[in-house]
Amino acid sequence: MKYDVIIIGGGAAGLGAALYSARYNLKTLIIAKEFGGTGNIAHKVDNWIGEPGISGMDLMNKFTKHVDEYAVTRVESEVSKISKLSDNSFSVKADKTYHGKSIIYALGMKHRKLGILGEKEFVGRGVHYCYTCDGPLYPNKKIAVIGGGDAAGLGSLFLSEYGSQIYTVVRKPTMRAEPITQDQMLENKKIKIMLENEAVEFYGDKLLKGIKLKNGRKLEVDAVFIEIGHIPLSFLAKESNVKINSHGFILVDNTQKTNIKGFCAAGDITTRHTLKQFITSAAEGSVAAESIYNFIKNNKW
Ligand code: NDP
Repeated sequence: MKYDVIIIGGGAAGLGAALYSARYNLKTLIIAKEFGGTGNIAHKVDNWIGEPGISGMDLMNKFTKHVDEYAVTRVESEVSKISKLSDNSFSVKADKTYHGKSIIYALGMKHRKLGILGEKEFVGRGVHYCYTCDGPLYPNKKIAVIGGGDAAGLGSLFLSEYGSQIYTVVRKPTMRAEPITQDQMLENKKIKIMLENEAVEFYGDKLLKGIKLKNGRKLEVDAVFIEIGHIPLSFLAKESNVKINSHGFILVDNTQKTNIKGFCAAGDITTRHTLKQFITSAAEGSVAAESIYNFIKNNKW
C-alpha cells in the first residue's frame, strides 16, 4: 500500500498537516512517537485563539480527536529512517516500513541541555527539564529557572504556584520572553529575575543543594528547571539530503517545500517563522498539505 503522504511528527504542525491532507482527500499516514509532542507539556496556552487558558495536553488531545474524525491512519512509533526510492517515492522505517509518494516532515525540537558540571549527576534529583511534570514536587521550596525565553518566563510563573521563591537566572541583560509574561513576572512577589547571571555548576550530595554562578556566588535551591531552548530534530531529513541551515533548521519556501521534490517540512523545525508557536506550526502544516496536494494531484512542484 502506498500513501499519498506520510507525515512524520504528531505535534501541532503534523496534526495540522494531517487534517488538511485528509480534507484534500489524500491517502494520509501520520507517524509520531507521542501524539501532541512537546505541546503536551505546556501547562497553560493563552495564545491559541478561541481557547484561552487551555492546557497543552487538552489542546493536543482536541487536535488528535479532530484528525481522528477523518480517514487518516495514525501510527504511534519512532521513525528511524527515510529513504528516497528510484521512482521518486519514499520509504519510511518505523515499527515497519511504510511507502508514500510524499513526505511532510514535522518533527519539531528537543530540549537543549546546559552541559555544565553536575547537570547529568543531579537529573531527577533536583535538575529537571519539564516544569509542568516535576514542578509540583517542590511545594514551598526554593526553585531556580534557567533561561530568558517564553519557556523560562512561563515556567517561573507556573512554579510560583508551588515554590516559596523562584529565581529566574538569565544570562543577558534582558529577557526575550513575551512582554506580557515579563510584566506578570515583575508583578509576582515570589519571582526574582537575576539578569546577567550564568550557572556554571550544580552542587549537592545525593540531592541538589544549589548552583554555582559565574560571578563566584552560590544560589541555594532545592530544584532547578532548565529552559534554554530546543535543538531541531532535523537529522532524518538531513540524511535524505534535505537542505538545513547552520542552526539545524530545514530551509523551506513560503509553501513549505524543501529542495527535495515531494518533501515538505512544517512547524518548529523550519526556517519559515522565528515565532515558534502552536498557531504558526498548525498553519505551516496546512500550507504543506496544500503543496503536497498540488504535487500529487496536479504534478506541480
Ligand atoms: P528560546 O530560544 O526562546 O530562549 C532560550 C533562552 O535560553 C534565551 O533566553 C537564551 O539566552 C537562554 N539560553 C540559551 N542557551 C543558554 C545557556 N547555555 N545558558 C544560559 N541561558 C541560555 O527558547 P524557549 O524554549 O523559551 O522558546 C522556544 C520557542 O517556543 C520560542 O519561539 C517561544 O516563543 C516558543 N514558546 C511558546 C510558548 C507558547 O506559545 N505558550 C511557550 C514556550 C515557548 P539568550 O537570550 O542569551 O540567547
